[in-house]
Amino acid sequence: MKRRDFLKFIGIGGVGAGAGFVLGKVSKPPGAKLIPYLIPPEDIIPGVATWYASVCTLCGAGCGTLVRVMEGRAKKVEGNPGHPINRGGLCALGQSSVQALYNPDRITKPLKRKGPRGSGEYAEITWDEALKTLAANLIELKSKNESEKFHLLTSPLGGTIDRLAGEFVSAFGSSNYSHYGLFQRKNLAFANLSTMGTASIPHYDIENTKYLLSFGADFSSTWVSPVNYSNGYGKMRQGTGERGKLVQVEPRLSLTGANADEWVPAKPGTEALLALAIANTIVEKGLARDASAWRGVLSRYKAKDMASICDVPVERIEAMAVEFARTRPSLAIAGDSVSSYENGISGAIAVNILNQVAGNIGVIGGVMPNGDDLGNGKKIDFGRKISTLISAANADKIKTLIVYGANPVFTTPKAARLEEALSKVPFIASFSSFMDETTAHADIILPAHTSLEDWGDDFPDPGVAAPVASIIQPVVSPVFETKSLGDIFIELARAVGGNVAGKITAPNFAEYLKASWKGLYSRNREMAAGTLGFEDFWNKALQRGGWWGPSRKMTATVSARAGEHLTGAPARFEGEEAQYPFYLIPYAQTAYMDGRGANLPWLQELPDPMTSVVWGTWVEINPKTAASLGLKEGDMVNIESPFGKISAPVYLYPGIRPDTVAVPIGQGHSHYGRYAKGRGANPIEILPYKEDPLSGEAALNSTRVRITRGATGERLVKMEGSTKEFGRGIVQTVSPSEFKRMKKEVV
Ligand code: SF4
Repeated sequence: MKRRDFLKFIGIGGVGAGAGFVLGKVSKPPGAKLIPYLIPPEDIIPGVATWYASVCTLCGAGCGTLVRVMEGRAKKVEGNPGHPINRGGLCALGQSSVQALYNPDRITKPLKRKGPRGSGEYAEITWDEALKTLAANLIELKSKNESEKFHLLTSPLGGTIDRLAGEFVSAFGSSNYSHYGLFQRKNLAFANLSTMGTASIPHYDIENTKYLLSFGADFSSTWVSPVNYSNGYGKMRQGTGERGKLVQVEPRLSLTGANADEWVPAKPGTEALLALAIANTIVEKGLARDASAWRGVLSRYKAKDMASICDVPVERIEAMAVEFARTRPSLAIAGDSVSSYENGISGAIAVNILNQVAGNIGVIGGVMPNGDDLGNGKKIDFGRKISTLISAANADKIKTLIVYGANPVFTTPKAARLEEALSKVPFIASFSSFMDETTAHADIILPAHTSLEDWGDDFPDPGVAAPVASIIQPVVSPVFETKSLGDIFIELARAVGGNVAGKITAPNFAEYLKASWKGLYSRNREMAAGTLGFEDFWNKALQRGGWWGPSRKMTATVSARAGEHLTGAPARFEGEEAQYPFYLIPYAQTAYMDGRGANLPWLQELPDPMTSVVWGTWVEINPKTAASLGLKEGDMVNIESPFGKISAPVYLYPGIRPDTVAVPIGQGHSHYGRYAKGRGANPIEILPYKEDPLSGEAALNSTRVRITRGATGERLVKMEGSTKEFGRGIVQTVSPSEFKRMKKEVV
């Protein structure tokens, strides 16, 4: 028996077990049989694990995985030590991907809406009926010459599946295919486009730098490629060479900030000005390596003028400037807290200018632009924003909407009135495997596989200054009656017929993917090196998790024209200070990210690394502020902006400025399964509806709030007792000079 056939049989057991759990009793579909191991399949030995290489798709970083499978069940996901992005590491979200696969709240088969929109009430239908219904809707649209009224909205897909989805939309006659994600880092990409000429994220060589100046980049937790950066950071601090230094600039101390040598709690919205003041000081002190284009612009940002605006002493700005310029190599990075302001592009450009002035671009230990993405990387279309979709829906320009992987109803402020706009779309289909807040608005659901059941590929952005192409392969047979995402598009193309069927002719997505890699192989000589033809290359790539080439050193110069995007002023916050005294910082929490991790019980159970809180939302308030408001830890408060109100218990946090409060993003779901629904609060709900007009990125740090005592309600559940030692001397400390003296004495 072949492995595939065997997995299919095992899959019957998997479906039975899953359905039994959902129904609260053990049940088996009719005709299911137990297969004895008298003649075991070729690569399955009872009791012996098989490992398959694949890719984690729970965020855009593209970490390589090794999945341990026993008797057809995925047991454990580990990082692939050979993969250049994560080198064996894997974050908590990646570790939890088995809980997405076997989640009791997965949508197990196609559904048709029977209750009002948003109610989540559905009836089961067959795949045949689901595909025919959606195809009939599209055919009708086409027959009325309204192809442009078909929109496809997905998460930021890349690689071959993105190409297939794009082909489907254009063959249908529509140009409306958009990507959406809360943390798409479009401001950063736009800043890089206008400064270095590529709309992508370069390789920040944290591993080899000696002085890392991070403007709000929580790179060891949630920023861009956290496993890759954490790995690099570990080497920077404990590698063979001299230990590097980390300085973190941010109003609220993140997990990365907690590991820094110095924390600079600049006033919210002024970090860009601080970066420019540091750059100007470098120029003024004659320490600049490449400042010819910037002298004039930078002269407006004198340290003495910026000090009071940023709330950072002038001496500290000067000290940072000297150390940043003199330490070789050094590196500055612009994280989410900088790029999430209304002038986020300006902040990211300011940091790029600082890097150029200090001579950090294109050098090891600095900013290394990624060259070739092998033509398949994630493309950012700055013109396609969530506001474009809302306006189109309100203007009756969307008749059919298909959504996959994106949950804008949860991640868009209420002020955007997205739900109202969706109610005007006559037909919505979702390909989600979970009943998230956006899927709950769908008329029909055609559930796609999770990544552990599906084929795919990934071309990570940022890369590692080397070409990387990874393969996603199914490691188990489908647990439920879901389909490969690619197969849904292919079967839908066949059902729609005409141009679409003529354009998409592959029998299935596995074949489509393989053909795509054949093209990649024939175009790229490096891939062909050392292989005995494509089949040999393909099998090796499957075994290894993909293909990656040697490093290619790329360089770039920062274009002086980027200066036109510098706003030169602190970011704006909505709400009068007298009424709303505190800046609100909503931030991506380590486990939940933009809310996608909230349906996985391991992640709910995982103590937050800074507060140790589990299963809920909290608001971080400086102890001095809390005392002035008469609040103590655990008190329930209302957090009110000009746009709405949420409630959460207080967490006393000395690592936040007294004029700022912070709330993690991720909880407050109205749908999304038993572990997520009805738990905590979503700070995005009370934000203004602001997106950057150039990039389309949402401005998360954009409102002030007031804090008032709330009704008793949710409890603060946390693992830590007290953060104080109460004079017990639990943590013994010693100064560096004392330590050196003691070391000498011992030697
Ligand atoms: S950073 Fe975490 S969630 Fe993102 S790809 Fe890597 S393991 Fe997956």
